[in-house]
Amino acid sequence: MSCCCNTMAKKGSTLCPECHQKCFSVSRQTMLHQVQFSDNQSIVTGDYAFCANMDCHVGYFSACHIFSKNKLRAFQSNQTTMLCHCFGISKLDYKKALQSNTAETIKAFVVQQTKDGLCACESRNPSGRCCLADFRQMEKAHDC
Ligand SMILES: [Zn+2]
Repeated sequence: MSCCCNTMAKKGSTLCPECHQKCFSVSRQTMLHQVQFSDNQSIVTGDYAFCANMDCHVGYFSACHIFSKNKLRAFQSNQTTMLCHCFGISKLDYKKALQSNTAETIKAFVVQQTKDGLCACESRNPSGRCCLADFRQMEKAHDC
């Protein structure tokens, strides 16, 4: 397969071709578990990144290929925005928990499972990354 452009050559963060938000690269394993059949058959080898912007239709992209979010399992059935894909905790769940001061228990649970190696971020989370950073982001947003 030939590719005219080579803008994704370097690892790490890159910009989404649609919304120009900073995106991080994803592993092939994550993509294979996220992209639905039969689109998962057309994943070409190469560097892909994930756009986490929920207002953007781009899911995974490389220099010459885009999988839109509606091709990804995480965005299929439920309309709620997930915070922790491994244990099915939505952003709304955690927001409510922050308001009712029960967030600490939920986060402790996730931290414990992560420590024990029982989380499945690489397969369940479309970004392929650990969700604990997103927990902290929500806590910060709640504090101010
Ligand atoms: Zn985007």
